[in-house]
Amino acid sequence: MAELVPLTTPLPGPRLTGRSALVTGGASGIGAATALRLAAEGATVLAVDLDGEGLGRTVAALPAEATGGITPHVADVSDEDAVAGAVAVAVEGGGGLHVVANIAGILRAAHTTEHSLQMWDQVIRVNLTSTFLVCRAALPHLLTGGGAIINSASTSASFGHPWMAAYAASKGGVAALTHTLAVEYAKRGVRVNAIAPGSVRTSMTKGLDFPADADFDLIARIMSPIGPGDPASVAAVVALLASDDGAHISGEIIRIDGGTHA
Ligand code: NAP
Repeated sequence: MAELVPLTTPLPGPRLTGRSALVTGGASGIGAATALRLAAEGATVLAVDLDGEGLGRTVAALPAEATGGITPHVADVSDEDAVAGAVAVAVEGGGGLHVVANIAGILRAAHTTEHSLQMWDQVIRVNLTSTFLVCRAALPHLLTGGGAIINSASTSASFGHPWMAAYAASKGGVAALTHTLAVEYAKRGVRVNAIAPGSVRTSMTKGLDFPADADFDLIARIMSPIGPGDPASVAAVVALLASDDGAHISGEIIRIDGGTHA
């Protein structure tokens, strides 16, 4: 006879009460939406970004009924000392650290033949090296009480996105780093996943400047048949991965691409 398995997880409600979270890129787009979502779910969030004014707008956007809070922290996540400082502030303010969402990133588009080494180095440093730096600084704290890391990959890590050589390479690196950390810390209570958005309406995509002679047939290949997504829907996936609802998800690169890959 079929057996009824009782529902053991709590029904939906704030899932991150009592958790301390560090969110990079918290001034804009997906990072701002993530800071707001995690705080709305009860977390004490340190939102880190270069853009202090943008961080102020994120803090001001938190609804009064949110049970968590957001503290702004201006820092460059590609700077080793600044990252160590941000992690220390998050630990102090939140009474530990349980969730890290590495969302900050930059995108530069150019023909690969015109991609300068300076542009390549900058994109790799902000997107990939910063993810390594934040994970490395945060892991000792996550290991003390269990935790979750959510990195930002992209669909560019898994299929060709023309004119984005450095960006795609950085996101492929983020995916590989995510797999590595997920296994390395699997038995020590830390889950590590990445989101892989396709096209999301943010300043990054609004400011995207393809070369004037770019072939739009090739750009169409990377567009969703249902249109670009919104940052809040990506943040909802981050919150799932950060919460106990994601307790058995680790080492995944989760596409949020509106069916682009279907
Ligand atoms: P966004 O709106 O441009 O926000 C990115 C934020 O990161 C900005 O506030 C930016 O500040 C900040 N930032 C950049 N460099 C930084 C640094 N060195 N230190 C601290 N903060 C820094 O971008 P988004 O679209 O939300 O993207 C968020 C993440 O999702 C990125 O990793 C991106 O690659 C990834 N993603 C986005 C899409 C998409 O379609 N939007 C698709 C796939 C993946 P400034 O404005 O001052 O530079």
